[in-house]
Order: sequence, then C-alpha cells, then structure tokens
Amino acid sequence: PLKLSDRVQRIKPSPTLAVTARAAELRRQGKDIIGLGAGEPDFPTPAHVRAAGKSAIDDGFTRYTAVGGTPELKDAICAKFQRDNALSYTPEQILVSCGGKQSFFNLCQAMIDDGDEVIIPAPYWVSYPDMVLLAGGKPVVIETGMDAAFKITPEQLEAAITPKTRLIVLNSPSNPSGKAYTQAELAALGQVLLKHPDVFVATDDMYEHILWTDDAFANILNATPELYERCIVLNGVSKAYAMTGWRIGYAAGPAALIKAMSKIQSQSTSNPTSISQKASEAALNGDQDCVKEMLVAFKQRHDAVVAGLNALPGVSCLESDGTFYAFPDMSGLIDALPEVDNDLQLGEYLIEQAGVALVPGTAFGTPGHMRLSFATDLPTLERALERLSQVANR
Ligand code: PLP
Repeated sequence: PLKLSDRVQRIKPSPTLAVTARAAELRRQGKDIIGLGAGEPDFPTPAHVRAAGKSAIDDGFTRYTAVGGTPELKDAICAKFQRDNALSYTPEQILVSCGGKQSFFNLCQAMIDDGDEVIIPAPYWVSYPDMVLLAGGKPVVIETGMDAAFKITPEQLEAAITPKTRLIVLNSPSNPSGKAYTQAELAALGQVLLKHPDVFVATDDMYEHILWTDDAFANILNATPELYERCIVLNGVSKAYAMTGWRIGYAAGPAALIKAMSKIQSQSTSNPTSISQKASEAALNGDQDCVKEMLVAFKQRHDAVVAGLNALPGVSCLESDGTFYAFPDMSGLIDALPEVDNDLQLGEYLIEQAGVALVPGTAFGTPGHMRLSFATDLPTLERALERLSQVANR
C-alpha cells in the first residue's frame, strides 16, 4: 500500500486554488459562476513584455540559464531595488525563482530546522504556514482584527518572540486584508526586532505597486535600515505586471543566505524559465506606465466593491490600502443564514445559491471573513454584488 511521507501529510492543498477549481468545475457543468477567488490580475501581460518573451523564443534563448537567474535579469532587479526602494544590492545578493512562491519555499528550506518558530501575522497568505510546516518549522500565528486594521502591534510582536524564533514574515500591502503598514508602524516593529538580534525578517512586497495610500510604499528595511543583514526582501513580477503564468519571483538579502537558497533551487527546479526571465527583464527595465494603468482600474473597482459590500446586511468591510482584495467580515450574514454555521459553509452556500465564488477567511487564519478578489471587470463585479445582495436580503 501507498505510504506517504509525514511531511506531505502535515500540509493541505492551497485553498485559493481549490476554490478556483471548484468554480471551474461548476462552470463546466453549465452553471453560471462568477469566480472572485483567484489572486491574479485579469489584465493581459503588457505588449512589450510579451514581445520580449516571443523574441527570446525566436532568438533561441531556450536553454538552461544560471540557476539563480541571468546576469542581465539580476542587474535589472538590482536597478529596480535602487529605483523603487532605495535599497542597494549586488547580483550575489539576488536569487530569481519560479514565482514568489518558490522564493519563500527556498527561504524556509534554507533557514528552518525542526522546531524552529516562524511568526506569521493573520490574516496571512495561505502558503506561509504550510511551507513552514513542510520545512519542519512551527508557525506561530499572531491574530489581528478589523479594529487593528489587521496589523500587529510592537507589543504583540515582542510577546510572540521566543528563543526558538527564527523568522517573522511581513506582507504589506497584505493578501488578503489589503492593508499596508505605514513607515512609522514598521519602524516600531523594527525597534522590537533590534532587541532580538537572532530573529530574521522576511518582507513580502509582492503587492508593492498596487497601493493607493497617500504615503509611498515602504518596507521594514526602509523603516529600520539596521536590519539589512537579517532581512530578506521578496518580490516578483506576477502581480505588478500581470505575469502570474510566467512564474518569476525574486529575493534579495545577505549573500550567504541567497547562496543557500540557490543551492536548494539547484537541487529542485534549477533555473526559472529562460523565456520568462527575458520577459521579466523587459518588465522591470521598461516603461512603468502599464503598472499605473492597472492601479487606476483596481482602485475604481475597489471603491465600488467596498461600498457594495458595506451595503449588505451582516457584512462589514474596511477600505483596502492596496492589492486587489477586499476582506469583509461576514459573521453577521453567517448568523442570519440558518443553513450556514461558519465561513467555510458560507463559501459553499454562496457558490451554490448566488453563483459567486469567494475564499473563506479560515484559509487565511481569520474565520468569519471572506476574501473577494476584484481583479475582474467592473460590470462583472457589479453583477456579483447584486447576486450577493439578493442572498443577503432574502
Ligand atoms: N506572496 C503573496 C503575498 C502572494 O499573494 C502571492 C501570490 O498569490 C505570492 C507571494 C506568490 O506569487 P507567485 O508565486 O505567483 O509569483
């Protein structure tokens, strides 16, 4: 009989991908389902980026590259960090991987031993705890709530740190909450970390460019530059340039850590796709107007979605600072529906009864909420809100 490893039995499949798959399955059966589960921009990859990918194929740039990425792409990433983040890195401090997902995976495999603790604020991106578990580590979740705008306080961080803490993961703007830390808030967290020199910090800046606050984007290194030697910056082209399928993410940090992560990658996937690397180079070096155009559309949809959600009985939603997610509290609606006891059941119910697919907050460590992705055109979003309204007002 098949004997599966303990390791694989420790984790669960990605719940966001599961919702997307369920919506697709019902659609195949002929049901009219509006899928607001997927975490990907609906826009096409910008034309100049697609062209660079095509040229890479035609030019025969279709072989193995250096494991950690081509020198040209690493240079483009270093230039990006300098331009957008005022952070200086050399190419030995950069690792290009098959999506931001692999960047975090490599980090866990390179840093975490059995029993090591990793602090993860909730709501969190679904993959953090599972990748930590896969590496043998222990996720230590800090709960936040709507009243705290889903952000942890310095006191909470201090209380969560133990002698076993290896890493804390920050993701701002956040998937799923849409909330971003201000530079002052990050500086206050940074002060706590300065007291604990053995703790590393990962800042996942994947949604950096999808931000509409008055303040410019800042990560914890901008706020506390003294953390440079124990900070790893994670980012990628997936969300900013509508390139989810190209699978390119990147990490920047201390050279010794990057080298260790690169070793993991050399024994798993090797280099990310050569063609995608060329396209990513074009995205990072090219005109950045495409990013701004998408941002305008996301903000417009955000405003419509948050207003529409707050108009539903039993639903309450904060404004997002960025990303393409809204993360409403739907516990009032759960209480009002006799057939439904929790957010997981609400997810099922809304797919069946309203034909709208949302991801239950439990997947992100925050029950009672649902994540709605507004990376879909406005008329579709309005149709979805109308359907939700019919169910909520029944
Ligand atoms: N980090 C966060 C916060 C995300 O939401 C995602 C994607 O959903 C990723 C990283 C990974 O992105 P990808 O592997 O598609 O580049």
